[in-house]
Amino acid sequence: MSPDVVVVGAGAGGLASARALGALGLRVRVLDRQRAPASIAKGEILQPETVRILDGWGVLDALRATGARPVGRLAIRDAYGRPLLCLDYAGLPGAYRQILCADYGDLRGVLADGLPATVEVRWGSRVTGVVRGDDGRVTGVRVADGGSEQEVRASLVVAADGMSSPLRRAVGVTVERREYPHGLVAFDVADAEVADEVSAYRTDRGLCLVYPLPGGRCRLYVQVTPDEFRGRVDLTAWCDRLLADVPAVRPLGPAIRASLHRRQLLAVYRLRTDRLTVPGLALVGEAAHAVHPMAAQGVNSSLGDAEVLAATLAAEGDTAEPAVVDRALRAFEAARRPRLDHVATVSHNASRMITSVSGLPRLLGGRMMRSTAANPRLLGLTAGNLSGTNVRPLSLVDRLYQFGLLTDRHAHVPSPPAPAEK
Ligand SMILES: Cc1cc2nc3c(=O)[nH]c(=O)nc-3n(C[C@H](O)[C@H](O)[C@H](O)COP(=O)(O)OP(=O)(O)OC[C@H]3O[C@@H](n4cnc5c(N)ncnc54)[C@H](O)[C@@H]3O)c2cc1C
Repeated sequence: MSPDVVVVGAGAGGLASARALGALGLRVRVLDRQRAPASIAKGEILQPETVRILDGWGVLDALRATGARPVGRLAIRDAYGRPLLCLDYAGLPGAYRQILCADYGDLRGVLADGLPATVEVRWGSRVTGVVRGDDGRVTGVRVADGGSEQEVRASLVVAADGMSSPLRRAVGVTVERREYPHGLVAFDVADAEVADEVSAYRTDRGLCLVYPLPGGRCRLYVQVTPDEFRGRVDLTAWCDRLLADVPAVRPLGPAIRASLHRRQLLAVYRLRTDRLTVPGLALVGEAAHAVHPMAAQGVNSSLGDAEVLAATLAAEGDTAEPAVVDRALRAFEAARRPRLDHVATVSHNASRMITSVSGLPRLLGGRMMRSTAANPRLLGLTAGNLSGTNVRPLSLVDRLYQFGLLTDRHAHVPSPPAPAEK
C-alpha cells in the first residue's frame, strides 16, 4: 500500500519528521541510502529546546539512559581557561534549563525506537529523484532497487537528506552555501572526565571546543587552517603545539595523545535555501539550512521543523488532498522562515566572535563579547536565543550596546524566579 508521506533520510530531521507525522496517524515510509545507521561525530550538544521536544515525544528518559551528560553552562574562556563570557542556563525561564551532550547515534536510536506503528524505516534505499504529476507537483520519489528503479507515490515528500540533498537539486531549489575560512578537526577523547560545561576557548589559533560525552569521553574540536592537515602531518608535533597554544587543555594532554587516531577533519559551511517547500515537498533539517557547528543549533532546528510541519498539517485536516497539503506547506514556510533566519544570524555572530583570528573581525568579536559579558540583560537574551526556549531577536539598539556604542541603563534587570528544572 502507498504511504501518505515519504521521508527521505533517517538522520535527526527525517526520524523526527517520521515521529511527528506518524503521531498524526499518517502512514509514513522513511528511506535511507545507508545500509545501517552510521556513527558520526555531529549533533551532540542538544539545546534545551531539543530536550523539550524529546520530552514531549516521550523519548527523553531513553536518551538520558544512554548516559547523555547534562550540562548547565556554556562558557567562552581564554586560552588559559579564564572566563570571558558565561551563559548560565539555570537562569532560563521555563522548565528546560539544561543542555544534554549525547552521541548522535543514540539520538537517532531513541527517535527510531518505538516509532508509531504506521511508520516504516527502510535502510539501504537510495532515492534517485522525484516523481511529478502533470501539473508539476511532486507526487512521489524514485528509489534505486538493484539495477532498476521503483516509484513510491505519496501526497507529501519530506526531503531530510542532509546538506548535499539530492532531492533539493532534483526540485530546483536554489541554495546559498558559504564555506568558513577555517576547518575543524574533531577528536573523540576517551578516559577524559571534563567539567559539566561546554567550554569554547577563544585562542590566537581560533576556537578550541570541549564538552563531555557518555562513557567518560569528551569531544575536542580544534579550529585549523585549510592547509594545516593537508598531506602528511606529524600528529605528535601538532598536538605539542596545540597544548602550548591552549594551556587550558593541557590536563587532557595524555588522553588527547592517545586519541589522535580517532579524528575527523571537517570543512565548515553555512547554508540557506531560497525556499523550504515546493508543491508536494518540504525540505527539513540540513537539506534546508546549516549553521556553524559551534553554535549547536542544527538539531534544535531540525526537530523544530518536524514539530511545526506536523502542526501545520494537523491544522489543515485532510492530508490525502494535494491542495490541502500544499496549503499546509505554505503555512510551514511562513512559520519557519523567520525563525530559521534568526538562528542563522545568531549562530553566525556567535561563531565569528570566537573563530576570527585577526584584524577587525577579531577586534569587533572581542568587543561584542566583553559588552555582552558585562550586561546581564544581554546575557539572558543570548542564552534564550541559543537555548531555543526563549527566542527574542536582538534589537538594533541592543546591537549598539553590544558594540559598546551606547550604555544600557537596563543592563541589570533582575530575572523572574525560575520554576522546577527538567
Ligand atoms: C561537525 C558537526 C557538528 C555538529 N554539532 C552539532 C551540535 O553539537 N548540536 C546540534 O544541534 N547540531 C550540530 N550539528 C548539526 C547537526 O548535526 C545537523 O543539523 C543534523 O544532523 C541534521 O540532521 P539531518 O537529518 O538534516 O541530516 P543528516 O543527519 O545528515 O541525515 C541525512 C540522511 O539522509 C540520508 N540520505 C542522503 N541522501 C539520500 C538519498 N539519496 N536517498 C536516501 N537517503 C539519503 C543520509 O544517509 C543520512 O542518513 C553539527 C554538524 C556538524 C557537521
